[in-house]
Amino acid sequence: MSIKTDLIIYNLSEIVSLPQVVRGFAKEKDLGIIYDGFIAIKDGKIFYVGERKDLYKFDASLKIDAENSIAIPGLIDPHTHLIYAGAREDEYEMILSGAEYNEILSRGGGITRTMRETSKTSLDMLVKETVKRIYEFVKSGVTTIEIKTGYGIDIDSELKLVRALEIVRRDVEIDVIPTLLAHVIPPGFERKEFIDRFVSTLIPEAVKKDFLFIDVFCDSGAFNVDESRKILSNGVSAGLKARIHADELAYIKCSDLGLEIGSVSIDHLNNTPREVLEKIAKSDIVAILSPTTSIYIAKKMPDVYTLLRNNGIIALTTDHSPALMNLDMIETMNLASIYFSLPPANIIAATTVNAAYSLRTEKIGSIKEGFQADLVILNVKSYRYIGYLRKRDLIKYVIKRGRILYRSSNQKL
Ligand SMILES: [Zn+2]
Repeated sequence: MSIKTDLIIYNLSEIVSLPQVVRGFAKEKDLGIIYDGFIAIKDGKIFYVGERKDLYKFDASLKIDAENSIAIPGLIDPHTHLIYAGAREDEYEMILSGAEYNEILSRGGGITRTMRETSKTSLDMLVKETVKRIYEFVKSGVTTIEIKTGYGIDIDSELKLVRALEIVRRDVEIDVIPTLLAHVIPPGFERKEFIDRFVSTLIPEAVKKDFLFIDVFCDSGAFNVDESRKILSNGVSAGLKARIHADELAYIKCSDLGLEIGSVSIDHLNNTPREVLEKIAKSDIVAILSPTTSIYIAKKMPDVYTLLRNNGIIALTTDHSPALMNLDMIETMNLASIYFSLPPANIIAATTVNAAYSLRTEKIGSIKEGFQADLVILNVKSYRYIGYLRKRDLIKYVIKRGRILYRSSNQKL
């Protein structure tokens, strides 16, 4: 008698299971590869992972022949600014043609333009646009996504974003992890006034709506270290966990604040001194890095090798925002290969198990029995093709809690 399950995926040349967080340069054993294996899924969870020789013991209502391709955990983007209205494609073009961002900002463009457009847009429309973007991410293998607030032009419109994110989280089939972000001081506010109201109004509301994280854009031109400390420590006292944008544009000791406050992640790190990177690498803080932001906005690569040589935990992000609309996690992996010289094993760990750890979300990020059945089936025969083979249709299937959310047009069921 075979064991009845819901879905079996077999003929997998490699199942890259990633059983635990990967520190430093990933070794092959960190990947936990099962060769020529199969995955049995039941009730949305991984029921069994094994080698072909045991396949006969299981049966399923749906079976997928993976035709010698690989399975990796569903991809996780741990840092996005996905909830906003409008676009800034004209500004992107201007910057590429030599304009300075500050020039655009002083003419009412940049982030303040997004804040105005977001504030004018109805809650329903914000939800609709964000859901659409989420399903674009799904096509690139994403099964869990973190989304930050932060484009409201005043406290009321920030409250609208908190509410919209609560609805988005409920309405989509993938996991959405909400973060309350102190982004910039909106035009017309005194710094202290905005921070006080952020702390007294937005933090309690985010806690009420089950937000998990508080984040601050700590940088030159955004919040300084003392302001960021005030926001983060109030968030932590209210029960949220801290994340921090640090050293993207300049080093004003924001990464040191991340260390001091025990942030779960320190994101960007483009201008961080080596000795601070070494401290981050030796801690349990996840360094979240964005290739697109490094290329287009920071115009400087983070020192990835110092993080890896000191056994740091690295995760990758699109850092999707209206400044540059990257909805493609596979492209992010490819860019990390070229611009960060990140080896393929690290790229996979950085977009799965390590990203899951930074989100403190259990039962995702690894292919393990009892974990959510979140999987991506990639049309390659080895994980070593990640970053190396660039083509359309790299993804065959994206599976969330055992359901196929996406399959490439040439995959039949
Ligand atoms: Zn960001």
